[in-house]
This record gives sequence, structure tokens and C-alpha cells, in this order.
Amino acid sequence: MFVPHRIIFEKGALNYEIGKNIYDKFKNREKTEIINLTNNKIKENIPGDNIKDFYKEGKNTLVVGVKKGYKFQSCKPSAHWQLPLLSGCVGNCQYCYLNTNLGDKPFIKVNVNIDDILDRAQIYMDKRKPEVTIFEGSATSDPIPVEPYTHSLKKSIEFLARSEYGRFRFVTKFDDVDSLLDVDHRGKTEARFTINTRKVIEDYERRTGSREKRIEASVKMMESGYPVGYIIAPVFMYENWEEDYRSLLIYLSEKIPKNLTYPITFEVISHRYTTRAKNIINEIFPNNNLPMKDDDRTYKYGQFGYGKFVYPKENLAYMKEFFKTNLEEIFPNAEIKYII
Ligand code: SF4
Repeated sequence: MFVPHRIIFEKGALNYEIGKNIYDKFKNREKTEIINLTNNKIKENIPGDNIKDFYKEGKNTLVVGVKKGYKFQSCKPSAHWQLPLLSGCVGNCQYCYLNTNLGDKPFIKVNVNIDDILDRAQIYMDKRKPEVTIFEGSATSDPIPVEPYTHSLKKSIEFLARSEYGRFRFVTKFDDVDSLLDVDHRGKTEARFTINTRKVIEDYERRTGSREKRIEASVKMMESGYPVGYIIAPVFMYENWEEDYRSLLIYLSEKIPKNLTYPITFEVISHRYTTRAKNIINEIFPNNNLPMKDDDRTYKYGQFGYGKFVYPKENLAYMKEFFKTNLEEIFPNAEIKYII
């Protein structure tokens, strides 16, 4: 369970229930420093003279704040809107997209004014009805490690269960889902779990749930009636990767219950990186051994003017065929959403 080294309360955060609960939980804990901000200078309260140390300390810092401005960010193609419950993640995945997107804000920030956020979600739903509106709860975060402190996911799940035109989804690499099991979700929240081979998790995904724990958590969610999906990502094509990914799929198939209410879904994403991401990763994790040799990759131009280094076309075609064949064989009733 995540225990922050320091908690920074922004102005006004203690006026809300979530803020007060977090304060009460940690106020007498010697190893957690409590900082009450009188200005908005979060970063000045996080030690670290260089990006590597600042990142390390940021990942141990919980910021408790009030979400100001209620314009939601769009979240295409997986959902319509991001639900701004929190940002940042306690995990230490070396390839993580947050290193680039939130590079100067590696801390975990939770927003305490959940009722305001859900009221705003209602307005977004009303604008689209009778079309269904899907909200994503993990666009810039992994929400599970702080859920026991905030219960924000639980409240969002319950809120969207009661809504006629709303759906919710989130994705995680963690396993602390017990507080979500008894929630009245009415099948309107989809929980997705990112899984990978033992080698990838051990080499690159520090401070996340193990393969076994993530799968165990996903099974608990299924048994509680949630629709559940798996994201296999990022796929690394290292020596004998096929053997490891096939054994991951077989292991998963042995664990998931029969007669599911909802068919499971799969999304498969091969590893890719931008030059900017590579530079930041090499600063934060100078000893990383992520496969990021540009000469081994194909440069794919992106829609917004910057491109990505992806696996060469023939390797990708082989990978797609590998997953298609194996998923269809091992999970004949599953839905494969995409393999890219
Ligand atoms: Fe990033 Fe996800 Fe790893 Fe957290 S768990 S560090 S969000 S990749």
C-alpha cells in the first residue's frame, strides 16, 4: 500500500471530507511530513536538485488539492472525457508516458472536491443525451494506489451507475481493489488491467503490482460483476518473447472464471517512444536498458507533427499475427479490440 513520505495540502483542501480524512489518517504518523501550503508552490516543497532525485521524491509525495476550473479534457478514442479525479502515479515504470506528460510534476495529486467534479460530469452527460457519454478515470494517472485514501473511484462508480447516459472506465497496474468490490456499479464501469510478462514487469515496471496480483485483482472484479478488460502493453520483442507472452496468456486463461457476465476484452500495444520521451527517460533512469536504439526502429510520423519510433513493419506484422492467433485460440469468447 502506498504510504507517502510527505503530504502537501493546498489551500482549502482541508475544507473537504477527502482532505480531512487524509489529514486525520496521517497527522500522527512520524514518517510522513505534513505540509500546509499557503501559496501554490508545490515544487518548492519537494526535495531534489536534479531531475532524477526530484522525480524520486515526487513519486513519494501526495498533493491534496481542489480542482479549479471544470473544463474536462477530451479523451479520444477510448472515452469522451477524462474525469479529473487525480493525476500522477506512484509506479516507477521506466517507459511511462507520464515521464513526458507530467515530467515536471511527478507527484500524485488528488482532487478533493469530488462532488463538484461529478456535478460537472452530469452537465457533460446532459449535453450529449440520449447518446451515452464515457468518462476515463486514469488518463493521467493510475488511480488504484490512492483509492483507499480518497474513495474517489468508488464515488464515481456509484454516481455513474445511477446515471442513465454515463459509463466509466479506468485502467491499472495495481491490485488494491478490495474497496471497489461491493460497490453498486450496475455494469457501467469497466475495469482494465495492464499485464505483461514477468521479465517486462521485473525489468521496467518497478513499484507496481506483480503479474499474479494484478490478475488476482482482475478476477475479483469479474466475480463482483464488473466488465473487465486486459491491456497487454507495452509489448517488447526481446529474445523468446513469444514463449513468455504465450505463457502469460495461458496463465491468465487458467485463472479467469467461466460463465462471465461480460466477455473479456484485449488491447495489445507494442512498445514505441518519441525522442523527447527517450531523452527524459535517460535522465531519470540513466542506467535503464529499455530497447531505444533508433536504428532498430522505424520512424512513424504522427498527426501532431512529432513522430514515434515503432518496431519495423515486418516485426509488427509478425507480432500482430502472433497475438491474434494466440488470443483467438486461448480465449475464443474474448473480444480483441486492437493490436497495434
Ligand atoms: Fe506510468 Fe502506469 Fe507505470 Fe504508473 S503504473 S508509472 S501510470 S505506466
